[in-house]
Amino acid sequence: MPPTCLLEYTRTGLAELLAGMGEPKAFRAAQLMEWIWKHRATDFSRMTNLAPALREKLAAQCCLRPLQVVEVSQSTNGSDTRKFLSRMQDGHLVESVIIPAAVGRGGAHSGRMTLCVSSQVGCAFGCKFCASGLLGFTRNLTASEILGQILAAEEVAGERIDNLVFMGMGEPLANIDNLLRALEVIMDPHALNIGARHITVSTSGNVPGLQRLAEFGKPLRLAVSLHGACDEVRDQIMPVNKKWPLAKLIPALREWNRTGKHMITLEYILIQGVNNSMEQAKLLIGVARGLNAKVNLIPYNTVEGLPWVRPTERDCRAFCQALVDARIPVTLRYEKGHDINAACGQLRLRRVAENGGSGQ
Ligand code: SAH
Ligand code: SF4
Repeated sequence: MPPTCLLEYTRTGLAELLAGMGEPKAFRAAQLMEWIWKHRATDFSRMTNLAPALREKLAAQCCLRPLQVVEVSQSTNGSDTRKFLSRMQDGHLVESVIIPAAVGRGGAHSGRMTLCVSSQVGCAFGCKFCASGLLGFTRNLTASEILGQILAAEEVAGERIDNLVFMGMGEPLANIDNLLRALEVIMDPHALNIGARHITVSTSGNVPGLQRLAEFGKPLRLAVSLHGACDEVRDQIMPVNKKWPLAKLIPALREWNRTGKHMITLEYILIQGVNNSMEQAKLLIGVARGLNAKVNLIPYNTVEGLPWVRPTERDCRAFCQALVDARIPVTLRYEKGHDINAACGQLRLRRVAENGGSGQ
């Protein structure tokens, strides 16, 4: 049996785990919590205020790091974005992207260190334009593996991560149980203490997952990978739309708006000849208006082996202008290169960080 990873426990959970190991004293859980999160301990032998027998028991049955960084690649386009690959205990690889705070005018720092987190190995949703979808689905990440990416990123960056975007490999809402478990620890003041408004969850439109996330009741930020403003276009590139077409997705988003605190962001990749006509712009305006949402336009990032093409810069700007004219809050950003083949959403991630890490 693989060792129990301690990362995914809140203080109450740790207390129960310790009680099961014959250590019923609640303050031990608080001590352990401090070692894990305040000191970011990687080794039980450092936990000097715990009895040696307990440390030995913990070391034999539990682990503190569920993944090991095996490769770090630095962007060569002049940005500080870094992608790293980690190996999990079963040998599968997962990737994460560190996006440092943008340095604004006059050297001002927006102050946030963002991590793009993966939620699954591969993805079952099979969007036709996406590198993660191409590889098919292998498995869900555990809550510990989600949390382990954050600690690994801090070790790589030498800085604390304080902003998260679930925009890496996988569909986070298709792994909702582990996502919620990880979020508990991420937001726990005794653990990572990252506030809900600094966490963005991106979904391609998993309706039951959205409902669960809304019930979770925290003011998280929500990004929706729309990529088409009518079923005809979405059906062509996103098989998920057959299961949850716009007639199901939009009411779920309206419901989110009723309970959520932030504007939804609609992500919209611009793909030549697929979704970048002026008719689509008009439909998108209607959807964004109906949901009081912002729109992020992302010129398609070419994936080797896939036929999709990025529209010309002029066409992207014209599409964007149509939304501006309709007074829809919209952003469009160009990137210099595709040198880090991040999970998916690399281009947008960069922009998220530059926008002050809000994910909006
Ligand atoms: N599965 C979730 C979370 C992954 S986020 C989702 O789809 O929302 C990854 C984002 O990057 C999604 O918006 C996805 O549509 C986008 N993306 C995937 N491939 C891309 C590409 N080649 N160029 C630009 N964006 C891409
Ligand atoms: Fe999965 Fe999102 Fe890629 Fe679609 S875009 S295949 S949902 S990771």
